[in-house]
Amino acid sequence: MGELELDGVTKIYDDAQGTETAVDSVDLTVRDGEFVVLVGPSGCGKSTTLRMLAGLETVTDGTIAIDSDEVQELAPSKRSVAMVFQSYALYTKMTARENMGYGLKHSSTLSKADRRRKVEEIAELLDITELLGDRPEEMSGGQKQRVALGRAIVRDPEVFLLDEPLSNLDAKLRSKMRTELQRLQEELDVTTVYVTHDQTEAMTMADRIVVMDDGELQQVAPPETAYDHPVNEFVATFLGSPAMNTFETTVRVNGETTSFVRNGTVFAELPSSAVSLSNGDRVTLGIRPEDATLDTDGDGTFTASVTVSEYQGNDNFVHLDVGDVELTTRVPPVVYPDAGDDVGVTVSPEDVYLFDIDSGRSIKTRGLTDSEPSIRTPPSTD
Ligand code: ADP
Repeated sequence: MGELELDGVTKIYDDAQGTETAVDSVDLTVRDGEFVVLVGPSGCGKSTTLRMLAGLETVTDGTIAIDSDEVQELAPSKRSVAMVFQSYALYTKMTARENMGYGLKHSSTLSKADRRRKVEEIAELLDITELLGDRPEEMSGGQKQRVALGRAIVRDPEVFLLDEPLSNLDAKLRSKMRTELQRLQEELDVTTVYVTHDQTEAMTMADRIVVMDDGELQQVAPPETAYDHPVNEFVATFLGSPAMNTFETTVRVNGETTSFVRNGTVFAELPSSAVSLSNGDRVTLGIRPEDATLDTDGDGTFTASVTVSEYQGNDNFVHLDVGDVELTTRVPPVVYPDAGDDVGVTVSPEDVYLFDIDSGRSIKTRGLTDSEPSIRTPPSTD
C-alpha cells in the first residue's frame, strides 16, 4: 500500500528577500501504485512540493499522509519514501554496491547476507550488475542514474519521489530511460511522484499529470484529458509542442453560425448551438498547430501568408501571418509551401478551443456536442 494524500499543503518562504508563497494549498491524492508527474514552468513550486513530501523541507500549513498516517512532522528516514535527485547525489568514495546498500545499512530486519542479496537483485533488475564494484567517477551519466535509482528501489519505499531524474542525460539516453523507468515503475507497482519541467516527459510517462503554475495546482488529469480538455488557457498552452496558438477575437452570431473574428478575418466558425455566446462578446480563440488544415490552392475559412516552412522529417511546421496574428501550424510532410505563398486555412469546429479573456477559464475544449448546447464544461480536475 502507498496512497499519498496532500491536504492544503502550503509552503511560505520567509527570508531576507521577503515572503514568498512557493506552494499554495495543494490538495492531491495519489493512488497506490500510481505514476503521477508534477509539471509546470520553472519556479512554479514542483521541487518544493516534492521536497516537502520527502521531508527535506518543512510544511508551513496542511498535511501529508501516507496510507492515512500523517507524516509531515516525521524525519525523512521515518517516512517510507525514497527520493532520486537530478544530481544523482551518489557518495563519490563508495562503489555502486556500497551506495546502493547504504540505505539498508541500518535496517534491523535484514541480515548482512540479505542486504547483499537485495542489492544484487535490484542491480540485475537495472542491468548494472557489472558496475557494482565501480565508483561514480568511473561511470557514465546514465550508469550513475541507474545506481541512484537502485539506491532508492532497494529500500522498498511506499512512495518514490523523482526530481528531474533524466535532465542530465543526453536526448537519446533520456528517451531510453523514460521507457525504462515506466517499465520499472509498472513492475515494482510503487506509488511514484515525478517532477519535470518537460511537458513531453510528463505526457509520455504519467498515469495522471499535475499541472502547476505559480504555486497552485491548475489541473490533475490523465495526459490526454488535460491535452484535449484543459481547464484553462495556461494548461492549454503549456501542453503541446509547438504550443497552441491563442489570440483574442470578437464573437459574431449569425443565426445557426457563430464566428470568431479579428480585424475583419473570420478565423473559425461553430454551430451556434455549441456555445452560449452573444454578438460582440470577446473571447480568446485557441488553435492547436496540428488542427489547422492548409490548402495551397487557397481554399479555407481564411487566407494566410506563409512566413517560414520548417522541414521536420515526419511533418513540417508552417508559420503563417494573418494580419497581426502569427500562427504556427503542423502539417504532413507533403505540405511544404514557400515563404510568401498564400494558403487557405481551416480548423474544424470540434478542434476550436475558446477561453474567457479575463480569467483564462475554458469555455469550449475539443469536441462538439450539438445535442448538448451551452458551454462545454471540461471534466473535473481529479
Ligand atoms: P520549481 O521546482 O517548479 O522550479 P521551486 O519549488 O524550486 O520551483 O520554487 C518555487 C518558488 O519558491 C520559486 O519562486 C523559488 O524562487 C522559491 N524558493 C525555492 N526555494 C526557496 C528558498 N530556499 N528560499 C526562498 N525561496 C525559495
